[in-house]
Order: sequence, then structure tokens, then C-alpha cells
Amino acid sequence: MKSRTLLFIAAAAAVTVFAVEVPVIHWKTGDRSRPLPPKVTPASTPGGAPSDAVVLFDGHDLSAWQQKDGSAPKWQVHDGYFQVTPDSGDLVTKQPFGDAQIHVEWASPSPTRGSDQEPGNSGVYLMSLYEIQVLDSYKNKTYPDGQAAAIYCQYPPEVNACRPPGEWQTYDVIFHGARWANGKLTRLASVTLLHNGVLVQDNVHPTGPTDYMKRPPYEPGPDKAPLLLQDHGQPVRYRNIWIRELDKYESKWGE
Ligand code: MG
Repeated sequence: MKSRTLLFIAAAAAVTVFAVEVPVIHWKTGDRSRPLPPKVTPASTPGGAPSDAVVLFDGHDLSAWQQKDGSAPKWQVHDGYFQVTPDSGDLVTKQPFGDAQIHVEWASPSPTRGSDQEPGNSGVYLMSLYEIQVLDSYKNKTYPDGQAAAIYCQYPPEVNACRPPGEWQTYDVIFHGARWANGKLTRLASVTLLHNGVLVQDNVHPTGPTDYMKRPPYEPGPDKAPLLLQDHGQPVRYRNIWIRELDKYESKWGE
């Protein structure tokens, strides 16, 4: 009886092994000839930019940004932060980015005004395609896949970690873009998001670009595109934005 049980376990284990693709690491374990990871100096304060980050706003100017038509930013810079100028248009980074770690801090207006999709509506669009919703969702209710930290009109956050209007909030994102080969989609985009340090999107795959009440399909495009901040007619504030490009590190995995 005991040996039959062991046989069953062995068979089950064999099935498990073949059900997933286990990564192959070509380096031997403990191989000292394997390249050491590059040194990155972390920020001296939590949430600060590490040494290999591209700083997109350090509290002083919008030199890394432009309007979508290439003109100078129409959003207002104040002491240590900048603010959406309602109905002036979206802002995009001058530099395109693909796979990345992104840190953004934002605050919705206080006192809050309006309801549903109005108060503090803005958005962080990864590669200008996938919107992470920015909204006052502290007490304000809207449809779940439209609240703060949602992948807009696709995935609600797992939990609501929103702070009150006027308080600074953080988004920390790990993003990988879609990949195409010969006109075929070979890799879905993926998003992991921490909202105020709380995991709210755990390696989710967008169904394609985000849109209002639509789920359009993926379309072939470049591996990099500007990060976009949405003007949704609300004076949302932003500060301390930085991004680490990950493609220069990813290729070393398993080689
Ligand atoms: Mg929005």
C-alpha cells in the first residue's frame, strides 16, 4: 500500500513538472565567473530616486515633459510639485520608455468636489497606452474598474488603499510592455502596482490599451513610448516622479 502511494505521488509530481515550463539557468550554481549585478545606490530617503533612475520631476521644473503636440507644458509648477491645468491637455515625457519601474506621487484636490468619476480624476498611462487610474477613491464611489489604482475599465485594484483628498499618495509600478514578432503578439503587457505601499495589482495582463467603456485589442507598436499624465479637468497634483528602465537588466536573466 505504501509503495502504491509513493508511486501515485511520483506520478503526480511528474505531471506537475510537465505542466509548467521551468526556467533553465545556464550558469552553474555559485559560479564566481558570472557577472556581478551592477551597483545601484538607493535613495537616502524612502521613495527617493535610486542612482540609475531617470528623474522626471524633482520638484523644480517640467523640462522632462511636453504637451502631446510637442509644445511647452501648460501645467503649473509650484513649490515642490506641479498641478494639472484643467483642460490644457495631457502631458507626456520627452523620452520614450518601455519596461520600467516607475514611482509617482499624486494628491487629489482638497476639499474634494463632485462625485463618481469627477473628483481628482487624472491618470498615469504606461507607454501612453495603459491607464492606471488616478481618482479620489477615499470615500467617493464609482465603478470598481474605474476607481483609483484600477487598470482603467479592466481591473479594479485588489483592495482600496486610498488616502484622503489632499494627502500625498504613491504609486510604485513594475511594467513590462507587449511584444510582437512578425505581426503576432508574443508577450502580453503586465502591470504590478503598489498603492501607498500596498499591493493592489499583482502581475495583471491588460487586455489591450485602456479606453472609456471599451476594451480595444492589442495593436503592433514600438517597444517604448512616452509616459503620459492625463488632464481630466481636475487640478490634481504630482511630485517626485522617477523611472528605472529595466530592459538593460532583463536580458541577463538565465544567460
Ligand atoms: Mg483618469
